[in-house]
Amino acid sequence: MSTTYQVTDGVAVITLANPPVNGLGQSTRAGVVDGIQKANADAGVQAVVIIGGGKVFCGGADIKEFGSPKAFAEPNLHVTIEVLEQSAKPVIAAIHGVVMGGGLELALGCHYRVAVSGAQIALPEVNIGLVPGAGGTQRLPRVLGVDMALQMITTGVSVPSDKLAKAPGQKLLDKVVVGDLLQAALAFAQDVAAVRPLPSVRNLSVTAPVDPEAFNKARADLAKTRKNLQAPQRCVDCVEAATKLDLDAGIAFEREVFDKLVTSEQAQALRHAFFAERAASKIPDVPDSTVTRPINKVAVIGAGTMGGGITMCFLNAGIPVTMLEMKQEAIDRGVAIIRKNYEAQVAKGKLTQDKYEQRMSLLTMTLSYDDITQADMVIEAVFEDLGVKSQVFAKLDAVMKPGAILASNTSTLDVDKIAEVTSRPGDVVGLHFFSPANVMRLLEVVRSKHTAKDVMATVMQVAKKIKKVAVVSGVCDGFIGNRMFEQYVRQGFFLVEEGATVQQVDKAAEAFGFAMGPFRVGDLAGNDIGFAIRKRRYVEKPDVMYSKVGDAICELGRFGQKVGKGWYDYEVGKREPVPSAEVQGCIDKVRAAKGLTARTISDEEIVNRLVLSMVNEGAMILQEGIASKASDLDMVYLTGYGFPVYRGGPMLYADMMGLTKVMALMKTFQQNPNDDGKFWEPAPLLAKLAAEGKTFC
Ligand code: NAD
Repeated sequence: MSTTYQVTDGVAVITLANPPVNGLGQSTRAGVVDGIQKANADAGVQAVVIIGGGKVFCGGADIKEFGSPKAFAEPNLHVTIEVLEQSAKPVIAAIHGVVMGGGLELALGCHYRVAVSGAQIALPEVNIGLVPGAGGTQRLPRVLGVDMALQMITTGVSVPSDKLAKAPGQKLLDKVVVGDLLQAALAFAQDVAAVRPLPSVRNLSVTAPVDPEAFNKARADLAKTRKNLQAPQRCVDCVEAATKLDLDAGIAFEREVFDKLVTSEQAQALRHAFFAERAASKIPDVPDSTVTRPINKVAVIGAGTMGGGITMCFLNAGIPVTMLEMKQEAIDRGVAIIRKNYEAQVAKGKLTQDKYEQRMSLLTMTLSYDDITQADMVIEAVFEDLGVKSQVFAKLDAVMKPGAILASNTSTLDVDKIAEVTSRPGDVVGLHFFSPANVMRLLEVVRSKHTAKDVMATVMQVAKKIKKVAVVSGVCDGFIGNRMFEQYVRQGFFLVEEGATVQQVDKAAEAFGFAMGPFRVGDLAGNDIGFAIRKRRYVEKPDVMYSKVGDAICELGRFGQKVGKGWYDYEVGKREPVPSAEVQGCIDKVRAAKGLTARTISDEEIVNRLVLSMVNEGAMILQEGIASKASDLDMVYLTGYGFPVYRGGPMLYADMMGLTKVMALMKTFQQNPNDDGKFWEPAPLLAKLAAEGKTFC
C-alpha cells in the first residue's frame, strides 16, 4: 500500500506515500480506506490526520494509471471519499505543497482541513479536457461559494491557501498555519476530537448567484477566452447543477459529464499535450543522471529584439545577466525596452515595483568582452549573418572561461558550422527562442553534431528554470518549427493561386482553431522575411515548385502591418485586416500567367492541405532523426505556432484522422493541376506507418 499508518497520542496519522506527488493510485486509495477502517476499529484512536509524505499533500490522479483499468479499480475515489465522510471519528486533511484535482476532492471529503501557508490549491482537470470527477464541482461551491469555485474550476488555476483563507465566508480551510504542519494538525485533532456532530461539506448548501443569468454569462465569457473548448463549458454546467440538485444527484450529474468528456477527442488531445510536454524534456541518449554544469551567471550578446527578451527570461528567474553590445546607443535602447516592458507589467498590477527593481538590479551592461569572461553561459543574439556570428564565436572562444556554454539564437544558420569556428565545439548549442522571447513558451534546443551530452542536459534544465518548454531539434534548415511552417505557407500560397481568397484561407485556418491564419501571420511577422528566404531557397533548389503570389505582393512593397499593407490593407493605427483589391489583382495575374482557372475550394480542403503539408514534412523530420519523437513536433506547434491545443498538434491530428485516410487525401491532392506531384509524395515513414496500421504518436 502506498500509505503508512501510525498512532501518536490517540491520533492516527495516515501518510500518503506515492512519490513524486502522492498520486491517488489504487494502492494509495486502498491505503486511505484501510487506515480509516483501522482507526475506527481502534478504541485508542480519537481522530485521524491524513498528510502527504515528501513535498506535497497530493497532486491528484496517478498519471501512471491514466487510461488503465487500475484508475477506476476499487476502492475508486468516490468510494474512498465516502469512507472518509462516514468515518465516526473526525478526519483532518493536513495540506502542504500542492493539493490538486483528486487530492482536493479527497480533502473535501474530510471533516476538517488544515493547510500550511503558501500551499497551492487547484482543480486543474479542465486543462486536460475534463471536469473534476469525484465531487469537486459539487463540493467546492459549497465551501467557497459559486463565484470563486467557478473561477477555479473553469480555469484550473491554483490559488494559495492564504488567499483562500481570507475569502469571505469560506469553509474550505479551518486553519492556516506556519511551521510544522504535522504538529499543528495533531494539536488541531486533539481540539476537535470530541466535537459532535462532525461537520461535513455534504451538509452545506450552495447559494445560487443573485443574477439569474450568471451561468449563461460565464458560458459566453468562456466561449471567448477558452474558444472552442468543451470542458470549461461543462464545468459551468456542473457548478450550476450544484445550485439546483442535492449533493448525490449533483455528483451523478458530474459523473455523467465526466464520462462523456473522458472519451472525447478534445480530452484525448489535451492528455496527449500533457504527456508530450513531459516527454519533451527527455533526450533518448542523455540519461537523467547526467551531471549538469552550474548556471549562475549568464551573458547575452546583442541587446536587440531577441537579446532583450532573452535577458528578461533570466532576470525573471533571478539569474544575473550581463548584456554586451557594440555601441552605447544600442545599450541605452535595449535597456529602455526592457524597462518599458517591466513598467507595463507594473502598471497592469502583474509585477510589484519591488520585484521590478530586484530584476533590474540583476542586469549589467557592457561594451567589453572582459566583463563577461566568467559567465557560465553566453547566448548570442546578434544579426542573422554567419560572418558576424562567426566573429562573435571566435571571440567568445578566446575569452570565455573553460566549461562555459556557448549558445546561439540563430533561427536559420547551421549550428555545426558555428560550433566549428571554436576550439570547443562540444560546448556550443543552438537556443532558438521565439519572439517575444519573454512571452513565448517554446524553446527549440538545437543539438549540433558536436554538442556534448552534459551541455544538452544543462540547457534542458535551464529551460525549465526560465519556464520554457524545450524541444530538441537536430541541425537542418528551419529546425523543426520553421521547416514545417514553410510547407504550410507554401500550401497557403497554392490555395489562393487556385481560387481560394486570402480571407477564406485565414478564416478556415482560424475556424480550425489556429490563433491566426497564415496570411495574417505573414502580415504580423513581416512578409519580407519569407521573401528573402524564398530568394535564397529557390536559387539553391530551382526544381522545387512554389507559388509566386508571395513574391508578387512583396514586389509591391506589401511587407505587412509595419508598412500598413500586406496580404491585407490596414488603416493607420489599426490592426484590423481589410481585404485588398490590389492583392487579389496580383493573385489573379499569377494564376493567369500559369494558365490556371480559379475554382471553388472547400474550407475542408483548405484545412486538410494546410495541416497535412506540415504532417508530411514532420514525417520527414522524424525519419531523418532531426526529432526523436512525433510528440516533440506537436509540442513545437502547440507552444510556438498557435496550433489549437484541443487538437493535440499536427501529428496527433493525423493519427486521429487515420494515416490511411491521410495517405488517400494526399493522393487526391497529387492530382491537382497546380502541383508537380512531388509536394504530396508521402514521406516513406508516413507510408510505412499507414501500411502497418500504426500511428505517429
Ligand atoms: P536585432 O537586429 O533586433 O538585434 C541584433 C542586435 O545585435 C543589435 O542591437 C545589434 O547592435 C547587436 N549586434 C550586432 N552585431 C553585434 C556584435 N558583433 N556584438 C554585439 N552586438 C551586436 O535582431 P533580433 O531580431 O534580435 O535577432 C537576433 C538573432 O535572433 C538573429 O540571429 C535572429 O535570426 C534570431 N531570431 C530572431 C527572431 C525574431 O523574431 N526577431 C526569432 C528567433 C530568432
